Amino acid sequence: MSISKKKIIHYLSTTSKGEINKLFSKANALTEKLYQNKIHFRGIIEFSNICEKNCCYCGLRKDLKIDRYQMTKEDILKCAKFCSDMGYGSIVLQSGELTTDKRLEFLINIISTIKKKYNLGMTLSLGELPKESLKELFKAGGHRYLLRIETSNEKLYKKLHPNDKNHSFQNRLNALENLKSLGYQVGTGVMIGLPFQTYEDLANDILFFKDFDVDMLGMGPYVPHPKTPLYKSPPILKDNFTLSLKMVALSRLVLKDVNIAATTALQVFDKQGREKALLAGANILMPIVTPTDLRKNYLIYPDKPCVEDTKEKCFNCITGRLKSIKKEMGQNNWGDSKHFYRRTKK
Ligand code: SAM
Ligand code: SF4
Repeated sequence: MSISKKKIIHYLSTTSKGEINKLFSKANALTEKLYQNKIHFRGIIEFSNICEKNCCYCGLRKDLKIDRYQMTKEDILKCAKFCSDMGYGSIVLQSGELTTDKRLEFLINIISTIKKKYNLGMTLSLGELPKESLKELFKAGGHRYLLRIETSNEKLYKKLHPNDKNHSFQNRLNALENLKSLGYQVGTGVMIGLPFQTYEDLANDILFFKDFDVDMLGMGPYVPHPKTPLYKSPPILKDNFTLSLKMVALSRLVLKDVNIAATTALQVFDKQGREKALLAGANILMPIVTPTDLRKNYLIYPDKPCVEDTKEKCFNCITGRLKSIKKEMGQNNWGDSKHFYRRTKK
C-alpha cells in the first residue's frame, strides 16, 4: 500500500471511527502477515538517570533536582538474568546521556558480560554518544540502538531543546548516521502531540523514517511534565493517544517490515494503551524490569505506569494482556528487525 503525504494527513486528522478502525485493522493484518501473532519482548533496564542534557520536555533533564542513581553491575546482571529466565530474548539498556570514559568502560564490561552469560539481544538507548564510543559498544555486543529524532522538523526541534551546540538537530542526525554506518539496527521515533506540532509535521516524520530507512520505531504520546520548561506551551493537536495509534498504524503501512514498539507512555492515557497499539501495527513490547525502588526516580513524565510494580508483576500483567488480544510472546528470540536484514542484505 503506497500512501501519499496528503492521505497520511487525512488519516491523522480524521475523526471518523469507521475510517480509523479500518486503518488499524489493515495495519494489524499486515503485522500478523509478517510476524503471525508473536510479540517480541525487550526487558528495559533503566540503569541510570544521570544526564548531561537539558531537553525541555524531560523529567530527567540535568537542571531538575531529583535523586540521581546508577545501578551496580551486580544489580543490572540480576535484571538481565530475570529477562533470560522469563524467555524475554532481549533487553534494552537505557539511561540519561553521559559521555564520560568511566561510563563507557562500565557499559563495555556490562554488555560483554551479559552477552557471555545470557546471550540476550541487546538494544542500547543511551543518547547521542561519540562515534568512537558507539563503535566500542557495538564491539562489546550492542547490536540495536534507539535514538529518537523527537521531531523531524528542525525548527520545532529547536523549540524543544536549549539553544546550544549540545542540543543541535544536526548532531542528532549525525548520531543516527553514525549508528547506521557502524552496523547497528537503527531505531528512532518521535513524540506525538508536542507543543507547536501539526499534522503535517507528523506526516513528515513518517516520510523521514522511510527516507532514512530505519529498522525500528519507538513512538509515543508527549506527556507534559509540570517541572519542565516546555510545560508552559500547550500542544495544538488534540487526543494525542488516538493520534499515537494512528502514527503506529500509518508507519506500519508505509514502512512495512520494521519493528514497532507499543510504548509505555501510551498507557498514561488509556489502561489498555499498549494492547491497542499491538492491534494497530506494533509488534514489540518493552516491559520495565528496573528494580521497583528506583522506578520513582526515572519519571521521564508524570503518571508513568508500573512505578510501584515489580518485574515479576509486570511479567504476569503483560502476558495476561497479550492473551486478552490473542497474541503471545515470541519466547527466547531476539526478534531482530526483518527490515535490517533486507536493508543490509545479510
Ligand atoms: N537519554 C536517552 C535519549 O534521550 O535518547 C534515553 C532516555 S530518554 C528518557 C528516552 C525518550 O524519552 C526520549 O527519546 C524522549 O522521546 C522520551 N521523553 C522524554 N520526555 C518525555 C515526555 N515528557 N513525554 C513523552 N516522552 C518523553
Ligand atoms: Fe537526558 Fe534523554 Fe531526557 Fe534528554 S531525553 S534530558 S538526553 S534523559
